[in-house]
Amino acid sequence: MPKIYFIDVTNRDGVQTANLGLSKLEKTIINIYLNEMGIFQSEFGFPTTRHESAYLQANLELAAIGVLQPIRLSGWLRAIVSDVETAFRFVPDIRHLNLSISTSAQMISGKFREEKKREDIVEMMIDAVEAAKALGTESIGVNAEDASRTDMDFLIEFASAAKEHGAQRFRYCDTLGYDDPFTIYETVKTLAENVGIPIEVHCHGDLGMAVANSVAGAKGAIDGGQDAYINTTLNGMGERAGNADLVATILAVTKSKGFAGRYRLGKRINLKKAWKISKFASYAFGVPVPINQPGVGANAFAHSSGIHADGVLKDPENYELYDLAELGRGEPEFVETGREICSGEYGGISGFRHIMGKMAITFDDSAKAGEILELVRYANVEAQKPLIEDELLFIAAYPQIAKKLLTLSPLE
Ligand SMILES: [Zn+2]
Repeated sequence: MPKIYFIDVTNRDGVQTANLGLSKLEKTIINIYLNEMGIFQSEFGFPTTRHESAYLQANLELAAIGVLQPIRLSGWLRAIVSDVETAFRFVPDIRHLNLSISTSAQMISGKFREEKKREDIVEMMIDAVEAAKALGTESIGVNAEDASRTDMDFLIEFASAAKEHGAQRFRYCDTLGYDDPFTIYETVKTLAENVGIPIEVHCHGDLGMAVANSVAGAKGAIDGGQDAYINTTLNGMGERAGNADLVATILAVTKSKGFAGRYRLGKRINLKKAWKISKFASYAFGVPVPINQPGVGANAFAHSSGIHADGVLKDPENYELYDLAELGRGEPEFVETGREICSGEYGGISGFRHIMGKMAITFDDSAKAGEILELVRYANVEAQKPLIEDELLFIAAYPQIAKKLLTLSPLE
């Protein structure tokens, strides 16, 4: 039976969320956590965007030295030859790409203003795929933007052309969150059967169905005989109403009535990292996790009504579908209630030594301590909030890579 994989797009689609953003160090920590969690791929950024170059190269270096292994790091760009060339110029070590172009009549006429016809769209995509192959890309996903508003015949033609020219995956983008579980199941199944290519489902929550649609779409791909790749973001961050939440989608695929025990995951997921990764995303984006968020919300395992409390005390399975420990919850967390010394962009050496000392990191060499402190200051300039322990530990462990992450040189 085909398998289900997860491709997290927080560092690409999540950071497109209006009014919000992530520092390059925060994006890196997210890649590290996704890797620890067993996520197949992180769409880690925009290789054609100049200020991403140093971050992307630095993360590819982390992959080369085994820190970001086995997760696959993929860049996202428009399916345009010049963009593919720019990506390789800015990020020479990039090897996995997702190439995107709009396919719906609405977008072709509304965005390209009648200057492009369907044949032109297919041709642009083919040229971009060929350019990516020629420059050494190892895996290519071709994205149909606004696929849910695209005629089925054209989608089949487009995806078939992508496959014929060497794309490994086809991304079905429900860009506006227009699908429902029934339509996406049918559409993705038809595509899988007619094109014979693994399918990524990329769902948005404008109608509140991003997770449901992702699961239904994945089932469509598998029933059509193909592997399914589900696109997710941490805490469902993303444009407008957001994307499918990673933790909720994993829970849906592994715990729901029709899925539990029936479908195979391409990689073993360590759900125990759910609590940590969700909390970090919330801190990094500055957006609280809703109390009723599946699995990781404050109320996900809270019971107050008499009947429920009595039932769960007798046997948690009376009112809980899954155990809190499975999500990495239940461990005590240390919260500072008194004096606090935290990192900052204007921090000094004694405060820094104090913070690092609490994590049992000491520096015999004061030049080394000064160098790490300087990097921590720069990281604070970018994040505009105190760094968490894992960020400080990362900088102390990989100062040379941290230096690259923190390099934001504007063009001359
Ligand atoms: Zn999207």
